[in-house]
Amino acid sequence: MTTPTGLLPLRPELAGEEPYGAPQLDVPVLLNVNENPYPPSDDVVATIAADVAEAARGLNRYPDRDALGLRGDLAAYLRTESGVALEPTQIWAANGSNEVMLQLLQAFGGPGRTVVSFAPTYSMYPEYARDTHTRWVAGRRNEDFTIDVDHATQVIEREQPSVILLTSPNNPTGTALPLDVVEAVLDAAACVRVPDAPDGAGAVVVVDEAYAEFRRRGTPSALGLLEAHPNLAVSRTMSKAFGAAGLRLGYLAASERLVDALRVVRLPYHLSAITQAAARAALKHTDALMAQVGSLRAERDDLVVWLRAQGIEVADTDANFVLFGRFDDRRAVWQGLLDRGVLIREVGPPGWLRVSVGTPVETARFKDALSDVLLALP
Ligand code: PMP
Repeated sequence: MTTPTGLLPLRPELAGEEPYGAPQLDVPVLLNVNENPYPPSDDVVATIAADVAEAARGLNRYPDRDALGLRGDLAAYLRTESGVALEPTQIWAANGSNEVMLQLLQAFGGPGRTVVSFAPTYSMYPEYARDTHTRWVAGRRNEDFTIDVDHATQVIEREQPSVILLTSPNNPTGTALPLDVVEAVLDAAACVRVPDAPDGAGAVVVVDEAYAEFRRRGTPSALGLLEAHPNLAVSRTMSKAFGAAGLRLGYLAASERLVDALRVVRLPYHLSAITQAAARAALKHTDALMAQVGSLRAERDDLVVWLRAQGIEVADTDANFVLFGRFDDRRAVWQGLLDRGVLIREVGPPGWLRVSVGTPVETARFKDALSDVLLALP
C-alpha cells in the first residue's frame, strides 16, 4: 500500500532544507570553489592509471579496511611538508575532509553535546552538527577575521563544548591562526567538563587545515602541537594543494587514541581500493605538485597587490583564494563577472566576495572583467 499523502517522516530539522553546494555552472573561468586550477599532469595521470589498473585486479575483494599503506604515505608526506614525525596509526583518511569532519562529530559530538566554532567560517560545519544531532554554537571573529583569545575562552567556558572547530587558513576569509591562539583554545578545551564523558577528558580541538599548503612563509601549521596535545586533531585534504578535488581524499593527524575513536564510527570499507590506489599514486608526485602550489601562492600574492592597488579592500590570506570587497551591491558585482564569463562566489559577510586563485590566464580574465564591472557600477 502507498501512503495517500505522499509525505515522508522527515526529521523536522531537515524540513525545507536544500542540499549544500555552490552552483555548478558551465562558465569559461571557474573561480568559485577553491579548486586547484591545474589538472593533473600527464605523469600524474599515467601513475594513477597504472596503479588503479593494478588495484582493479583485486576488486573482487574488499579493500584494506584500515588503509594502512595510504596512511603511511600520508604520514611521510606530512613529515616532508611540516617536519613533524607521525606514525601511520596517527593518521586517519576518509572520502574528503568533509567525511573526516563528520566522523569527528559522530565520535565526539551527539545529542546533548555542543560544537563551537568562530564565524564567519566554513558553511558546512553547521550541517555536520545538524546531521549528528550536535548543538551548533558560533562565536565571532574580529573585524579583521582573527580570533580574540579572551572571547574564544569565554565562549568555551560558557558553552562547555565537546568539540571546538578552528579553521586555519579560514574559509571564506583566508585568515591563518597564530599558534598562540590555538594553544589558548587547547588550554580552555582541557578545562571543559563534558557531562557524560570521564572527568578530565576535556574537549577535542579540531584545526581544519584544508588550505595549509598555501600558507605564507612563517605561518606555522598546528601539526607541531600534536605531540603535547592528545585531544588535538589537524585535518588536511588532497582536494586543494594536490589538485585532486575529484579524488575525494581527506585525512587528519592526531593521537592514536583519537584516531581509534574514529575507526569505531567509520563505515566498513569506507575508502575504496580505487581511491586508496589513486591517492597513493598522486602522493608519488608530491615534489612536482608542491612546486605548483608555490606558483599558486605567488599568483595569489600578486592578485592581492593588484586588488589593493584598485582601492579594493582585501582580507589577508594564507589560502588559495581571496576575500575582497566591500561592495554596496555585491550581487551586482558577482553577476557582472558572471556575465563576462567569470564565476566567483558570493559568500562571507555582507559586501564581500571570494575569488579562487586560477592560472595566470584565468586571473587576467578576472582582473579585466572586474575592472569592467567596477567602471559600469553606478
Ligand atoms: N574544510 C574547509 C575549510 C573547506 O573549505 C573545504 C572545502 N571547500 C573542506 C574542508 C572540505 O574539503 P574536502 O571534503 O574536499 O576535503
